[in-house]
Amino acid sequence: MNRHVLVINVGSSSLKYSLVDTDHGTALGSGLVERIGEPDGSVHHRGPDGDTDTAREVRSHEDALRLALDAFATHGPSLDDAGLGAIGHRVVHGGDRFSAPTLIDDELVRAVEELVPLAPLHNPANLECIQVARRLFPNLPHVAVFDTAFHQTLPPHVYTYAVPREWAEDHRIRRYGFHGTSVGFVSGEAARMLGKPLEDCRLIVLHLGNGASATAVDGGRSVETSMGFTPLAGLVMGTRSGDLDPAIPLHLHLRLGWKVEDIDRVLNRESGVKGIVGHNDFRELSRLRDEGDPDAGLAFDIYCHRIRKYVGAYFAVLGGIDAVVFTGGVGENDAQVRSASLRGLTRLGIEVEDERNRVRSREPRAVSAEGSEVAVLVVPTNEEWEIARQALAVAEAAV
Ligand code: AMP
Repeated sequence: MNRHVLVINVGSSSLKYSLVDTDHGTALGSGLVERIGEPDGSVHHRGPDGDTDTAREVRSHEDALRLALDAFATHGPSLDDAGLGAIGHRVVHGGDRFSAPTLIDDELVRAVEELVPLAPLHNPANLECIQVARRLFPNLPHVAVFDTAFHQTLPPHVYTYAVPREWAEDHRIRRYGFHGTSVGFVSGEAARMLGKPLEDCRLIVLHLGNGASATAVDGGRSVETSMGFTPLAGLVMGTRSGDLDPAIPLHLHLRLGWKVEDIDRVLNRESGVKGIVGHNDFRELSRLRDEGDPDAGLAFDIYCHRIRKYVGAYFAVLGGIDAVVFTGGVGENDAQVRSASLRGLTRLGIEVEDERNRVRSREPRAVSAEGSEVAVLVVPTNEEWEIARQALAVAEAAV
């Protein structure tokens, strides 16, 4: 069977695509279609001859997928020549129904449609691309890889909120957790670096990107995670608030007359680091801190304090850990976030070595002090590779 997989990763207004060599994790061609549904959309494609950018209107997700395929045809590599073994679709929400990657058929499409109320921005976009891709590639296996699946191992006392039972039974309100594909991938890499079977490892994985989450992983299974019913909960993020007193939105609505849609928008898009300092990119935050901007300093402190609280809490949940693992754009690149988040945790056996931590690299590496009881690891995530591997495994099993 061909070992190349086309991975399609759809957001509410963007589409990432990648032709992955599943043996090596390399992208032979990849790209990003942005601002879907707006007149000033764009296609960025990376092929064998370098990068190309095209500005144009992208009317729909179907349009975006067709543009991606056009980019392969025009700039290479040729999908026909690559010989695809499967198409892997990232699907954000699998509810409590999907705990593993699944071959896509009409029944799966219906099941994902039923989950739309849980992910109203993402699942419809995922479905649109799945349907178009199935029409365009009717002879290839299509596989759905769910962001929530990895967290289906959470025990009931972790995923159940302390609200009336009917909320869960009638409305499926519970903790789901997200970033599962990334957390699963870096957990495996971390175990390899520790030289232990994953079954024997207790890890705290900090995925710090635009979204941010902490997950306690015991023997390769997610046992606690900071995102909840939605990806708004938990750590402070670029534009999302993370945890807050649930009475605050009620106060804004009932006492101050705010519209629910406005509260939703502000908590998701105008809060987090952006809400405090006006920018959500950590490179900009770092620059402003260096200039002595007090809001930037405060935003950084809030961000790192929240991470430290979760590390302490998950240490307690796991009863001790082998490693803290940083990944995601911020976790992989921002040495200051790593050291400030873990400062003062030597009593827990966690000690970052400043010089190692400062080294910039794209390689997986340890940044803990020699003799630190707990390893502190930086592991670049590769969600596309994980999706491709899982998709190919399902496709091969189905033959
Ligand atoms: P991700 O969602 O994993 O792609 O992460 C994106 C975020 O990573 C960006 O919004 C930046 O805040 C952050 N980031 C990317 N590169 C760097 C860097 N060199 N230093 C600090 N933060 C970075």
